[in-house]
Formats: sequence, structure tokens, C-alpha cells
Amino acid sequence: CGIIGYCGHRPAVPVILEGLRRLEYRGYDSAGVAFVQQDALHVERAAGKLCNLEKRLEGQNVFQATSGIGHTRWATHGLPIEKNAHPHTDTARRLAVIHNGIIENFQELKNGLQACGCVFASDTDTEVLAHLLASFLDQGLPVAKALSLTLCRVEGTYALVVVSLDEPGVLYAARKSSPLVLGVGVGENFLASDIPAFLTYTRDVVFLEDGEMVRIDASSFAVMDAATLAPITKDVKRITWD
Ligand code: GLU
Repeated sequence: CGIIGYCGHRPAVPVILEGLRRLEYRGYDSAGVAFVQQDALHVERAAGKLCNLEKRLEGQNVFQATSGIGHTRWATHGLPIEKNAHPHTDTARRLAVIHNGIIENFQELKNGLQACGCVFASDTDTEVLAHLLASFLDQGLPVAKALSLTLCRVEGTYALVVVSLDEPGVLYAARKSSPLVLGVGVGENFLASDIPAFLTYTRDVVFLEDGEMVRIDASSFAVMDAATLAPITKDVKRITWD
């Protein structure tokens, strides 16, 4: 339902929680964040309101990570309980993914992945994305290529963002029939399902189209064709409303 991703110079978790708060008007049943800190992937999730997630994060040292992702979920597949909240990870916890939309062929993909030994931790359609992506990374492919191959196998709608230990400090995102925008800051970049999530930090926005993939780090962004990885030149638009 609500998506936010951040790469920059600020502690990421507070920026992400603030972004999720600004997307609350869309409604949600659970929330979660993922970030890389000290070479490990950290995921925290909670059913219910954002304050439940904030309580879980209280007292934890979450101020070192300068990149990460956050999601508020509106359940379509699987009950609105903690194990179904996003982000979802692969079995080895090499990556985490947040997703808006519906993966229509998730059951078929899940059956194939389970036959290959993948153990699923949730009842969501989204989790197949994490395991499928990890299966391509396990073949030694870079994240962009692995995500491209994953999206080729997937039917349905998505706006998704991936954080991976393979490239800490980098986020990958893609969309098909679900909104996703890129916020371009100075020494920081944002991904979100809607502009208000990052409007206090930047008014410079790139509108992503279906079939596009984007890679961001703190100082740069690159948009490419999700199928071919060919670079795509995009206009940065200035938002003038509040
Ligand atoms: N289909 C996914 C789920 O049920 C995503 C829901 C959403 O868009 O928040 O977990």
C-alpha cells in the first residue's frame, strides 16, 4: 500500500518512518522496515498501526543505516498479521523486498521454488519475489540482472523496492500498473508510492513508467528498461504544490 525507500546521508529509519506516516491516509493493516547495518540485513515488522512498529524499534540502535525501505501493507493475500507484513526476505536473508500490487501467478512460482527447497515464511503473494530474486543472485548474477529475470517470470501488478547485502547502500525498484516515484535530492534519493512521502526533503521528482527499473544510491540514480537494462533518459520535474 505505502512504499518508501531512502539512500542518503541521514539516518534512514527515521526518514522512512516519517515517510510511512505521510502515506498513512491510504490505510494499512501492518508495517515494516528493512535496512543494512554492520553487514547484516535488519528487518522489523508489526501488525497494526505504525506506533506498534515504532515500539519495536525503540531502544534498538537504528541510527547507523543511511539507506533502507519501509512499507505499510493492505493485505490481499494472507491475513494482516506480523509474518505477512512486508518487507519479505529470502531464506538466507540476503535481500528484502516491499511490494504493492498482486503477483497473479504466485502459486505456480511458489510451488516451483518449494520444490527447489525454498522455505516460505508467509502466506503472501509477495514472498515469491524474494525467493526468486535470491535464486538468480545465487547463480552469481548482479542484482539488476537478477531483478530483470525475476520480473520476466512474474505476472500481475507491482511497485516494488529491493535492498540487498550484495549492494549495500543501493536500492532497486520497478513498477507495473502500480504507482512509483523517484525523489531526487542533494546527496540523497527517495523512492515512494506517492510524492508526499518525501516532499519535505525534495521537490524534484522523476515519474517512473510501467516496465522501468531504477537503481538509486545516495548520489545518483539510473533508470533503465526492466527487460533489457538499456538506459532510459528521464526528465526531473519540479513539484510546485504543497
Ligand atoms: N499483495 C501484497 C500482500 O498482500 C501487497 C499488498 C499491498 O499492496 O499492500 O501482501
